[in-house]
Amino acid sequence: QRVEYGVDQHKIDLRLIIEPAVNVCKKLKDAGYEAYIVGGAVRDLLVNLEPKDFDVATNATPEQVKALFRRAFIVGRRFRLVHVIYGRGREHEKIEVSTFRAYLDNADAASAVKGNEKTSRTELDGKSHAVDASGRVLRDNVWGPQNEDAARRDITVNAMYYDPSTQIVVDYHGGMNDSKAKLLRMIGDPETRYREDPVRIIRVLRFAAKMGYRIEARTEAPIRKMKALLANVPSSRMFEELLKLLQTGHSLQSIAMLKKYGLDRGVFPILDSYFEGIATNPAREDFVNRALADTDRRVNEGKSVAPSFLMACVFWHEVSARWDALRAQGESLMPALQAAVDATFDARIGDISGRGKLAADMREIWQMQPRFDKRTGSSPAAMLAQPRFRAAFDFMRLRADAGEIDMALVEWWEDYSMGDEDKRRDLLEVAR
Ligand code: ATP
Ligand code: MG
Repeated sequence: QRVEYGVDQHKIDLRLIIEPAVNVCKKLKDAGYEAYIVGGAVRDLLVNLEPKDFDVATNATPEQVKALFRRAFIVGRRFRLVHVIYGRGREHEKIEVSTFRAYLDNADAASAVKGNEKTSRTELDGKSHAVDASGRVLRDNVWGPQNEDAARRDITVNAMYYDPSTQIVVDYHGGMNDSKAKLLRMIGDPETRYREDPVRIIRVLRFAAKMGYRIEARTEAPIRKMKALLANVPSSRMFEELLKLLQTGHSLQSIAMLKKYGLDRGVFPILDSYFEGIATNPAREDFVNRALADTDRRVNEGKSVAPSFLMACVFWHEVSARWDALRAQGESLMPALQAAVDATFDARIGDISGRGKLAADMREIWQMQPRFDKRTGSSPAAMLAQPRFRAAFDFMRLRADAGEIDMALVEWWEDYSMGDEDKRRDLLEVAR
């Protein structure tokens, strides 16, 4: 069932593919391996969208890949792959290179865990595949042929391979036709696939929002009844998925999708915080919606969005409600804010290991808010020198847009931050 499509059929525009992705494939092929651009990038290229990142699939093992590139790092335990880095600093490009993996059904997987697997599937050096009691795949590092690599991917439009040198698209599951029909179709039996990895439920909804594709009936049917499985997914992975949902460039549609399938509440603690917040204070809905609309606009203009900014917006209801409550109890301004932030993180994020920087950035955005009121002395100059000034300022502007604070304050800071020294001195006079 392997089908190949030439350029006259798929019409992929090579100019949409970044140089490093082409280079990685070329280097691997020159070394005698197979190498393809794979997954979401092919899905996007087929509809003339610029992919936001490029994944490469190869029959070389991570060690063999690493050996070919000057800056390459083997990462991941649950899913080992190689990051190949081109360029430096903010402009660097990272290509994720993964080795073709075998598709093991749960019986195979269970025996692999027990260690009595004596087949030739692991002839390369990958060894481990593991599932938990609910059938969730914990590890997936058994190498295999390309057709099995395709079969273990989630939806058909995410399971195609594109060789930039021959410009051939390889398709095992009818992805090309589904792309033309704008259809999201789970490969294999949807229930089994959701059980293996419940996050696939969220992914289907994310792609529906992002691509505007229809969800095939069989793929859609189990979603509502299987959503409880998401409780088994580690909170850090759920957090990553939520960030992805909000950074598709279609965050409002993504939330609408979650609502449609009853996943808006009780799945992501962060969204619970948001929805509880707007339930008690409906005027606040406007604030987050503006933040999300703004994020969508930025993403669609190809700009980056800091997750910390987005998260600071989504949590703002809860933080400010807790802050108000503590101040009403007589706590002073900054300690009350500090305590409100701590309480919110405790309640909603819990242990997001490796997310220290994100939390610190969110905290800074919030803590700078009351300081915007101080427009005398050396305080404004000190604010301007803060690395997070821009984010905090944009946050304040959103608050003003939503009617939470006076727009005049935003204008003052706009003038102050853009002004020369004389202008700044004048503004300080005005404020005094
Ligand atoms: P995006 O445009 O958001 O990056 P993507 O499809 O590239 O979307 P990734 O998370 O980058 O998504 O994954 C790359 C590819 O790996 C997918 O296209 C899919 O083939 C496969 N994949 C990723 N996650 C899963 C999963 N949970 N189950 C099965 N296959 C997956
Ligand atoms: Mg991707």
